[in-house]
Amino acid sequence: MPEKNILIAGLGLIGGSLARTIKSGHPDYHLAAYNRSQAPRDFAIQERIVDEVSDDFEALAVKADVIILNFPVQLSIQFLKTLATLPLKANVLISDSGSTKLEIVTAAEAIFKGKAVRFIGGHPMAGSHKSGVIASDELLFENAYYILTTSALSQPADFEELKGVLVNTRAKFIELTAAEHDAMTAVTSHFPHVVAASLVDNAHDFAEIMPFTENLAAGGFRDMTRIAESSPDMWTEILMSNPDNIVYQIEQFSQKLAEVKQLVRQKQSTEIWEFFDKARKLRAQMP
Ligand code: NAD
Repeated sequence: MPEKNILIAGLGLIGGSLARTIKSGHPDYHLAAYNRSQAPRDFAIQERIVDEVSDDFEALAVKADVIILNFPVQLSIQFLKTLATLPLKANVLISDSGSTKLEIVTAAEAIFKGKAVRFIGGHPMAGSHKSGVIASDELLFENAYYILTTSALSQPADFEELKGVLVNTRAKFIELTAAEHDAMTAVTSHFPHVVAASLVDNAHDFAEIMPFTENLAAGGFRDMTRIAESSPDMWTEILMSNPDNIVYQIEQFSQKLAEVKQLVRQKQSTEIWEFFDKARKLRAQMP
């Protein structure tokens, strides 16, 4: 009997990478994976990423001690609803890897209220603009922050258990409330993706007037817009799942831009210098 049966549901970039790290950290665990389409399942077996694959989520779920959902957030919530209808092992530990946390944690608390289910929302803060199990990487999460969210469905010992399963990610685990997670990632991740896409769009619009513009997009522009190549499916989903925090960031930023506009219009060179100097110092001090 293996010490634990783990179910990785969703063999994409994140699910595949988690499976690789769990397998290498715990060769004694039985690792099963659910995926809707066959090619990723075949790939995961050929690469020995997991021990068992199936397109029958329910059959794998009832055997699992730990289930990690690696889907877009709305889909993970649908899978949580399915899980609540199944004869799961008592005190099964469920987690996910979605990029927003309040929506799924709130849903989990309602779905599993009064049930012998433990849930810890998770967000491994590493990724790539690539997707799919083919791009999965055992080292993806090394030294990255891995947020675990507190809720009514988990106790401190449950966090230690999940961190033990995920030990070979070599990630830096941090416990936050789901609301804290969504507020902070709006600032450092979600809103910057909006800005990057807007910069690209802005340059493209201007190229209608001066067609050579985009050829002049050099180092600074390319550094700031690399993340605009990310998946539109994933980023639409993230904006839909964290609207209040993102709208707040857009409003704050619009205010900052209006202030800079005013300084430039009035040619206040001292204040403009201070604006850049403050940012330069803050950027140099960032952890
Ligand atoms: P991915 O596209 O590589 O994989 C998505 C998975 O969802 C695939 O297994 C796919 O088969 C499955 N899926 C999609 N629609 C489905 C459906 N209708 N029915 C059944 N299965 C379906 O995506 P990913 O990058 O692994 O992202 C997974 C989660 O991790 C997302 O919530 C994402 O926000 C989060 N995340 C992504 C990154 C990143 O940079 N890619 C980083 C951290 C967290």
